[in-house]
Amino acid sequence: MTISTSSDVTALPRINVMKPWLGTEEAEALAGVIASGWVAQGPKVAEFEAAFAAVQQAGFAVATSNCTTALHLALVVAGIKAGDDVVVPSFSFIATANAPTYVGARPVFCDVEPATGNVSATTIAAALTDKTRAVIVADQGGMPVDLDAIRELCDPLGITVIEDAACGAGSTYKGRPVGAGAELAAWSFHPRKILTTGEGGMLTSSRADWAQRAAKLREHAMSASAASRHASVLAPPEEYTEIGYNFRMTDMQAAVGIVQLGRLAQAVEQRRRIVARYTEALTGVHGLRLCGDPEHGSSNFQSFWIEVLPGFGTSRERLLEHLAVQGISARRGIMASHRQPAYAGRDTGDAELAVTNRLTDNTLILPVYHQLTDGEQDRVIDAVRNTGRH
Ligand SMILES: *Cc1c(COP(=O)(O)O)cnc(C)c1O
Repeated sequence: MTISTSSDVTALPRINVMKPWLGTEEAEALAGVIASGWVAQGPKVAEFEAAFAAVQQAGFAVATSNCTTALHLALVVAGIKAGDDVVVPSFSFIATANAPTYVGARPVFCDVEPATGNVSATTIAAALTDKTRAVIVADQGGMPVDLDAIRELCDPLGITVIEDAACGAGSTYKGRPVGAGAELAAWSFHPRKILTTGEGGMLTSSRADWAQRAAKLREHAMSASAASRHASVLAPPEEYTEIGYNFRMTDMQAAVGIVQLGRLAQAVEQRRRIVARYTEALTGVHGLRLCGDPEHGSSNFQSFWIEVLPGFGTSRERLLEHLAVQGISARRGIMASHRQPAYAGRDTGDAELAVTNRLTDNTLILPVYHQLTDGEQDRVIDAVRNTGRH
């Protein structure tokens, strides 16, 4: 039997995998920026940067147009260029692998740990080459990566560790926010993440020189920012000190981001409450393995994934179809970049990617969003339980 997954198969209200949590405060903040007449990068971006750096204990913050451009800038300020190798997880959104490609470097794929879906010192060590100059490690789905162990491996080798914290706002590592221990961390404010500005990103750095260079590069490498030039009636002449980019965030986005940052702790608390309910209800279901906090930190559960093992009795695809018929839009787990046409024909190293393949094929992400009611969640729980072998 084939099951149609079009929208007309169920009368039940649809449950999405994610919904942004936005309110009238964001709308009012946005209206304030529009009324001010200054809508491009300006005072609100500066305010958002300062607030974000403080909350994430992240040193210096540079707002960007999205996380992909923040990753790109991170590699530029770290001096990564053509001929260099950058070790990255294949098990990540494709932007993690694309960023090294933008600077002419070669992404070299490494595997991940089955418990967390994250890279580790072990999986990175297996992929290092004599040309490796940087490593991008992701807090995948909000799961904190074991950064200290990775830096112990990479720092003595002169390899820069860049944290792809796209999903990480609100997660902790050894009692501090993720990213706090990184020389460079890149963040996303896409609506699929917990803190959203529509589109948007941030680069944080413990190094003032790297942050300053990134701030310039994101604005065409202009010697004086547009905002500072606007402050004087007769603007001083500007210089373009190198070839830069336009990776700016707008003040409209930043104003929304400031409000969202204020909601972050509450948003994470609610997500963790929802995940605790899933964990309670699904632990012990035969053939399912649930992700959970690692020993070294706590996840914001930007993505709560489960692995369908052979003992469940049906496949991951069949479970997704069964959920879809009941109006539940779960999602396949994290992608594997090495299997995408964009990378299939390229030389991306020869590290074993067995865990990546296994997790990509057998995991799915269950709905977690702020407004999800217990009743809606019970529909998801019942649908999962009723699909298995029992
Ligand atoms: C979402 C995501 C990105 C890309 O973020 P954008 O803001 O959409 O550019 C990069 N890496 C990971 C791990 C992500 O989840």
